[in-house]
Amino acid sequence: MTVITRIAPSPTGNLHLGTVRTALYNVLFARKHNGKFLFRLEDTDRERSKEEFTQEIIEGFKWLGIQWDGEILRQSTRNSNHTEYILELLDSGKAYRCFASPDELDQMRKKQRENKEPEGYDNRGRNYTQEQIDNYIKEGRKAVVRLNLGSDRNIVWEDMVRGNMSINTKDLGGDPVIQKANGQVLYNFAVVADDNDMGMTHILRGEDHLTNTAKQIVIYEALGFKVPNFGHLPLIFTKDKQKLSKRKHGDIAGVDKYRNEGYLAEALVNYLVSTSYTSPDSSQAELQNIEEMSHNFDYHGLSKSPAIYDIQKLNWFNREYIARLSHSELMSHLAPFLSYDLKRFSEKDIELLLEAIKGNLNKFNEIDSNVFYFFEDSTQDAALEKFLIEGVEVNKKLLDRINESKLDFSDANQMKEEINLLGEEKGLKAKSLFWPIRIAISYRSSGPDLGFVMYLLGRDTVVKRLQAAIAVVK
Ligand code: GLU
Repeated sequence: MTVITRIAPSPTGNLHLGTVRTALYNVLFARKHNGKFLFRLEDTDRERSKEEFTQEIIEGFKWLGIQWDGEILRQSTRNSNHTEYILELLDSGKAYRCFASPDELDQMRKKQRENKEPEGYDNRGRNYTQEQIDNYIKEGRKAVVRLNLGSDRNIVWEDMVRGNMSINTKDLGGDPVIQKANGQVLYNFAVVADDNDMGMTHILRGEDHLTNTAKQIVIYEALGFKVPNFGHLPLIFTKDKQKLSKRKHGDIAGVDKYRNEGYLAEALVNYLVSTSYTSPDSSQAELQNIEEMSHNFDYHGLSKSPAIYDIQKLNWFNREYIARLSHSELMSHLAPFLSYDLKRFSEKDIELLLEAIKGNLNKFNEIDSNVFYFFEDSTQDAALEKFLIEGVEVNKKLLDRINESKLDFSDANQMKEEINLLGEEKGLKAKSLFWPIRIAISYRSSGPDLGFVMYLLGRDTVVKRLQAAIAVVK
């Protein structure tokens, strides 16, 4: 058996992290088994499907390095196949036309509420007499097609993530509509027809589809299709236990934000896989690319507990991947985010500078705030001023030493040593020594080695900024 998996996004919105994550698990499983990973676009909802979303999804997958096999199948091209299968079910009596008007259905639900019964379609269309049907047609009523779910029974499957699953047909809200009166075939039916015809063997998707799966299994059986293996993944939640959604959480739910802010695709991929997967083999490295993960993937490592959106963890992955970049790779990733021209420094100094700050970058769009002070003067942040006040003696002493020519601005190490000597004399260490100087000359409390910062800034700038910092106190 060749393993075939898929991702089946609906192009009705931006590319969501959850879609990417689902795609990834399907890719990893397919590749692990030398199978195929297919891409189907579920674009049958004419009103909500938009070409711009289709392009965004495709672009996003390409950026992330998610490759599918063959061409994208657009579900909208499959209408005649769907209709044929529906006719087959109508012929065999496994589906039927239901003429209930919206009013009639409202009445039905109202009664159910009054009687405190569970709400749902009461399967009345199953028992229409021919006479009733003829009358409805004469009245000009339109019919939907409903799937006959059959008698009460447990629909069972062995879920790849959740183990034994069982859902009773009476918990499915009554016989579901599979085709609307206007001819539109609905998700649960179209998905089965397409998954079958595309040869799907394994379907990993969000656990919001659990009851759909139960309905779909009935459709597989009704059409005499082989039921594929299913695995239902937990959804992604925020730390306050809300389902991660664009509506509630804005752009953090979409892929674009991460691309625009300068996250590496490899880091996002690695992070998303880690949200619901831990390799059962504890010797596995935490950082792996898609190829390595595919090679090592074992679906038993998929977890059924809720996945938690954790930006710190994503930042950690990104920093790790940034740290692995060569100097030229780093330069080309930073270029679109950098507003300053580094060329005023020598090649060697640029390399030293980037090497010194790359550990501080969570993402590439943080580059400007890490280097701006090499290019322009600024004003002190009110929150940092108190360190300038407390450390004014240090800054005065340093200024004296510069004026006495004790510091050699061509030698970063020598300057660092001088600062250390100054600290020893005054009995100062670490924060109380370095912070006032660093804040004075770079407006920040962290950054590269202080000697190196002074070397790159040059004597005039350092003197000017020390004087300004001393003046803050008056
Ligand atoms: N188009 C469906 C969705 O985006 C596909 C669900 C499925 O994987 O069957 O939710």
